Amino acid sequence: MIEADDEQTGVAAEDAPAGDFRSGFAALVGRPNVGKSTLLNALVGEKLSIVTPRPQTTRHRIIGIVNLPEAQIAFVDTPGLHRGETRGLNKAMNRAAAGALDDSDLCVFIVEALRWSKEDGFVLDRIKQSGRPAMAVVNKVDGVHPKGRLLPYMAELGTRHEFVEVVPVSALKVDNLEALKKAIARHLPQAPAMFPPEEKTDKGQTFRIAEIIREKLTMELNQEVPYGIAVEVERIADGDDGQIDVDATIWVDREGQKPIVIGPKGERLKRVGRSARMELNRMLARRLHLTLWVKVRENWADNARSLKQLGLE
Ligand code: GDP
Ligand code: MG
Repeated sequence: MIEADDEQTGVAAEDAPAGDFRSGFAALVGRPNVGKSTLLNALVGEKLSIVTPRPQTTRHRIIGIVNLPEAQIAFVDTPGLHRGETRGLNKAMNRAAAGALDDSDLCVFIVEALRWSKEDGFVLDRIKQSGRPAMAVVNKVDGVHPKGRLLPYMAELGTRHEFVEVVPVSALKVDNLEALKKAIARHLPQAPAMFPPEEKTDKGQTFRIAEIIREKLTMELNQEVPYGIAVEVERIADGDDGQIDVDATIWVDREGQKPIVIGPKGERLKRVGRSARMELNRMLARRLHLTLWVKVRENWADNARSLKQLGLE
């Protein structure tokens, strides 16, 4: 009898009128470093987007898909929107973020608890200009004590724009994220799912490997260099002992950056390789043999062709 009941439920769910289900794109938008990528990973439950303490770590538009019984949400992580950019890479990053915003069904505007700066105001102006419905998410509430201090901050945020809701969360501590998913789902259009249920992202293995290497490298480097580096996976192949062989190139945009990336006696590059390999072993559930090269491509970050080749345009 139980079996029959289960079958009954299954059929009923499939036959549910499409009008009851919601789906759409929710763009994660905010100034650099508010926690957009951390939030995407926590919402999807998998590390899709790399995270470092440095601003401007995210360069691409990355989709992470969350399935609820009543909705499918395609979150779009974006590079932080920032003002007054002249260099090619930064302009491309701004375009990616603005494009995701304009294409979204709902804009999720992320701010840092108890903080408001000109940069936040710049992003909010861009959201108003897009005309998209927007929800405000107050992140990093784990750092606020006592929690009551959030109330006036959230009230003030509510006066800056007509947000559909204002939701406090901690992406880092995975706090209040289920409520956030439900709130977002409520504000998506009624539509059938856009992606098959097993799909978690639009990005393939090659992209994710290159990004993990770039994350480890960014963690190792000083403020100046990260902008000038890019990682390109040149080869992925099955090795002899069941391991995966990966060859990757770290592109720098000036000859002088090469020794910085390599470090004295190659120590820095070795550390980067080691920590990337450890994380990739876990991610791929296979042993990985990683070979890294450092090569110079003068001013690649300002060169349209290089940007395109590296998937940044
Ligand atoms: P993005 O530039 O907006 O994508 O920000 P990231 O996700 O790269 O995060 C920037 C920094 O903020 C990293 O050091 C994160 O660990 C940190 N961070 C993100 N979310 C939280 C949070 O909820 N609480 C705290 N305390 N730190 C966070
Ligand atoms: Mg990011």
